[in-house]
Amino acid sequence: MTAGGMSNSVGPRATRIVDGTTYAVELDLNPIAASLLTDLARSTQTWRLEHLKHRQPGSAEFTRHLAALTADPTMQAALTQLIHPDAAEQLSSELWESKDEPGYCTSWDCANYATVLDLCGDCQQEAEAKPPAGRVR
Ligand SMILES: [Zn+2]
Repeated sequence: MTAGGMSNSVGPRATRIVDGTTYAVELDLNPIAASLLTDLARSTQTWRLEHLKHRQPGSAEFTRHLAALTADPTMQAALTQLIHPDAAEQLSSELWESKDEPGYCTSWDCANYATVLDLCGDCQQEAEAKPPAGRVR
C-alpha cells in the first residue's frame, strides 16, 4: 500500500542541460510547487526570507537568517516531500537518462557537446546557414 492520498501524484522532473563544453542535470520542482510552498508557508520563520533578500550572501546577517531558516523543523519538513511511486519511477528514469555525459559535436575542431543530433547548437546553426552541398554553381 502506498501513501497515495498524501503524496504528490506528479513529481519533480529531471532534464540534462547542455551548454557548450559543460552539462548538468536540471531538477524541476515546479510539479510539486503547490504542496512545497503550502508547507513552507506554515513555517513561523518565513519572515527571514525578506531579510535574505536585502543582505549580501555570505555576510554574517545573511548567514544567521539562513541558518535559522534551514534549522527550522517546519521548513525542513516542507523540503521533504512525498511523491507517488509512479512519479518516483518517472523521475528515476529521467535522472538515469540525463546523468550521462552527452556525445561530442562531430564538427571538425569543435569541443562542444552535441545538442542537435550529432552537432552542437552553434555548428547546427552554421550548417543551416550554408547552402546545401552540390547545389552551388
Ligand atoms: Zn560544434
